[in-house]
This record gives sequence, structure tokens and C-alpha cells, in this order.
Amino acid sequence: MKPTNPEFAAPADADARRAVVPVICYPVDGLAPPDLAAYRAARDGWILVEIVIAAPRDAAHFRVPAGHFFRIVSVDGPQVGDLNLWNADDVAERFFSGKTRALHGTHVSTGDRLWSNLPHMRPMATITEDTLDWYGFDQYGGSVHDVIGTRCDPYTNRLLSGGDYHHCCHSNLTRAFADARGVALAEAEPHVHDVLNVFMCTGFTRDTGQYFMKATPVRPGDHLEFFAEIDLLGALSACPGGDCGSAHSSDAVACHPLRIEIYRPKAPPAGWVSPAPNAYPRTHGR
Ligand SMILES: [Zn+2]
Repeated sequence: MKPTNPEFAAPADADARRAVVPVICYPVDGLAPPDLAAYRAARDGWILVEIVIAAPRDAAHFRVPAGHFFRIVSVDGPQVGDLNLWNADDVAERFFSGKTRALHGTHVSTGDRLWSNLPHMRPMATITEDTLDWYGFDQYGGSVHDVIGTRCDPYTNRLLSGGDYHHCCHSNLTRAFADARGVALAEAEPHVHDVLNVFMCTGFTRDTGQYFMKATPVRPGDHLEFFAEIDLLGALSACPGGDCGSAHSSDAVACHPLRIEIYRPKAPPAGWVSPAPNAYPRTHGR
């Protein structure tokens, strides 16, 4: 982390260097924005086709065909969820948290896309509704639905606490993937990847830049809604941290289930076509 007592004295022009105006790394002006009106119109008359429950301190897997919607819904009490997504037909293509962050910022909301990894790099899902979009950024720089965290995992827990805990999101997602694909845990584990932290409220401290969390503002009835751009396999872990206001990687705090609702529209959104993989020819200069 950045030292609060630096070893080296600031140069004479330190203020001028710090005053350089930043530029956005990846301006997304060139990206065609999602036609939210068309997506939302497609919800008229949609049919709820499946409900899947992620039990507290456990994960559930689910499938969403391209052109369907899914919602992650808060039930019973404030709860954070860790989401993984794969191409249902080729699980080597999966959600790319880092590039999604680079394109859309540290926290995502309505109109943002969840992008897949290289070399595929296409939208896997589009966020079409977020009942927590009113939160914005709070006085600590915190916001909800981050793509800056990774997932709680038993390896970091062992490093920091010395103990073993088996219901971290990483383990929950590993079991869910193994069940979904009918494979052993050892085969499943490498497919688990950095998550979208659904409903989690996080940021970086202003002085040291450390990752922080605080109790989520989500309440039962809130939801985050997605449109599946390609056939998806998903896994959602109801984090053992519960509202993530104090601890995780333990059974110490209250935990609640999360509900996944999958909807089939009567017809796809007007003008929508499932996105093709990225067109870069993969020649890499040779
Ligand atoms: Zn977790």
C-alpha cells in the first residue's frame, strides 16, 4: 500500500506533477450503447421460467439461453452475491472482471456490459435494471456491484488467519461448477474466476488505496437484472460474509439466500443479434 510516511522527499515540482489532468484509459464513446428501450420493451409479457435459490454460504448454478433475462433478487435480508459466468457451450470463454472494470469503471450498473475474456471479448450480458442505482458513490468512495474484488477464498484465508474454511465463495463456486458440469472439484476449480460482486458495497481508502467493504444497502425485493447476450452458464455464491459489513470467510455473521429468476421474453428485443466473438485475427504481428 502507499506509505503514509514516504522515504523520499517530494521534488520541487511535485505539485505540478500531481496536477497533471488524467485521461480516461478506455473511452467507450466508440461502443454502440445498448438499446435499453428495446431490451425493456421485450420484458412485456415475459414468462418466469425458472427460479434457482443460492442457499446461505453456498452457491447455485443456472443456465440462461441467449435472449433471455435473469434477475438476482435479495430475499430475507441483506446479502452479497459472487457471480461467475461462462459461455454455456465453451466454458473457456468466461467473464473478464478486469477488462469490464477498465471499460465501465470500478462498479457497474444499468447499461453496462459484462465482457468475456480474451480472445473472445464480447458482451456476455447487459445490465438492464438495477434497483440500487440511486446509491451512486458515498462519502467514503464506496459503491455497489464492484468488479474490483476477486472472491473470498480459502487460500487467502489460510494466509491471513491460519485456519481452513470451506464455504468461501471460491469453494462454493467450485462445487457449483463441478455439479453443473459433472466433473471433479480439481477439474472445476481452475474455471472459477474473478467475480461480479452483486450488491456488495466496496471501494478503496483514499489515504492508502486499500480495498474496503461496508454493509450493503440492499434490502429484500431489490434486484439486479441482466439480459443474456449469449448462452450462459452461471454460478452465484451467497457469500459467507452476509451483508459484508464486518467479516467474511467464517460462519460469524448472519447470511441469507439469494434468488435467481430466469425470464423468457415473447420475442427478442427489436434489432438484437447475439454478439459474435471479437474480430481480431489473432496473428499478433506475425
Ligand atoms: Zn465471498
